[in-house]
Amino acid sequence: MNDLSSDSPNVNKSNEEWRAQLTEQQYHVTRENGTEAPFTGEYLNNHEKGKYMCVNCGHTLFDSKNKFDSGTGWPSFDQPSQKNGVERRVDDSHGIERTEVICSNCGAHLGHVFADGPRETTCERFCINSAALKFGSE
Ligand SMILES: [Zn+2]
Repeated sequence: MNDLSSDSPNVNKSNEEWRAQLTEQQYHVTRENGTEAPFTGEYLNNHEKGKYMCVNCGHTLFDSKNKFDSGTGWPSFDQPSQKNGVERRVDDSHGIERTEVICSNCGAHLGHVFADGPRETTCERFCINSAALKFGSE
């Protein structure tokens, strides 16, 4: 397991503190780089207008207007709500190089970003675990 403390410029909590605050699945996804099973996430088919926040620290990450149905089984966004709201990091676990997406405020693992998003906008697909998000409607 990675030690994320060095990537947490604004929020620094111990694993015990995170564990007390989060459900088992939220902890696994955001602190142990887990992935929820496809087509199981709470927000996959959420079409309400609002903002998606980091489930760990409340930092605003994504906006419903950038959400699209990718058919992959995870909530997908073509961009974050603010450019510096998320950070990208190379992830070469599982023998493939992918780009991991983390919360810039607390270092929570959110998901990955791929280059097969909508061509009309950014061509990017932020493939994000529902378990890493908390939705707030407008
Ligand atoms: Zn966060």
